[in-house]
Amino acid sequence: MMQYGFQCEECEEAIFPATTRSELAWFRNRLHVVREVAKHVQTGLDTWMIEGMEFLDRHSGHSVVLVSRSSTKSGSA
Ligand SMILES: [Zn+2]
Repeated sequence: MMQYGFQCEECEEAIFPATTRSELAWFRNRLHVVREVAKHVQTGLDTWMIEGMEFLDRHSGHSVVLVSRSSTKSGSA
């Protein structure tokens, strides 16, 4: 099973939220919208969105790319 995530090419740090590649691509392109929504509905966001937002904030100005990896282990993240 493939997992998709964001990786910062400068810090070589990555996260692999529990969501799909297309969701991640959408998320990154619409980050400004997601941020606006987050201001109003603090409990309405999925965990992966909060994780993703924190990651992209932490690496804002860095080169962040969408990456994939194959996962053989299952269980909690
Ligand atoms: Zn970084």
